Amino acid sequence: MNTEAVAKAARLLAGSKYVVALTGAGISVDSGIPDFRSPGGLWDRFDPMEYAAIESFINNPRKVYTMIKEMHKIVESAEPNAGHTALAQLEQMGKLKAVITQNIDNLHQDAGSSKVIEFHGNGSRLVCLKCRKVYSREQFEDFFQQDKLPICECGSVLKPDVVFFGEPIPVEASMLSQHEAQTCDVMLVIGTSATVAPASHIPFIAKRSGAAILEYNKTTTPLTGSLSDHFVMGSSTETLPATVERLKDMLGS
Ligand code: ZN
Repeated sequence: MNTEAVAKAARLLAGSKYVVALTGAGISVDSGIPDFRSPGGLWDRFDPMEYAAIESFINNPRKVYTMIKEMHKIVESAEPNAGHTALAQLEQMGKLKAVITQNIDNLHQDAGSSKVIEFHGNGSRLVCLKCRKVYSREQFEDFFQQDKLPICECGSVLKPDVVFFGEPIPVEASMLSQHEAQTCDVMLVIGTSATVAPASHIPFIAKRSGAAILEYNKTTTPLTGSLSDHFVMGSSTETLPATVERLKDMLGS
């Protein structure tokens, strides 16, 4: 691990008042959730245009649920890792004000983060496309083990409360994340190359509003050296806890 880079990140955080994190698939890899886009990932086995498009769901929910059950198997056994926990600690320290995540795995909440803006929804919820009623997935455990579809009390098929291709980003999440990006003085970009719109706009908004961009990724991305003011290379499972420990030393807490 690059201790110099970690120390500089901690110094930037020490001088900040309002930190916001933008997280992506990379932060959850060490929790056993491979990036859906990576080779061998979910989108390698299920063509997302066929299995994760809203039109496919409406036309053939039973087929789409074969993919959803696979996705669920991957996500349900996952536990937060030290990276998620470090962000929860940063919130407890009063530094981190919000996490904007592209993940649907609920691991930030499981780790103890209280303000989580879900850009792509959350797989632990089901929503009715007709009456908008929201259920927790646990209420439908039986349906996930059998070859049945979860049905709303109104009679309509329930959809996982995740953003399918062809669906808009939830308006509230979009507005909240723009607001957070405009308000923060440091934005942590973690485990994402932030190349997929509209999430990719978030670091740009932050930068334009005067925030420093602190990037945590395993490898360089298009943000590195251009938008990012500082880059901490490595697994966020190691670099984030190391940063928080260093910050605690600096703040004497
Ligand atoms: Zn309904």
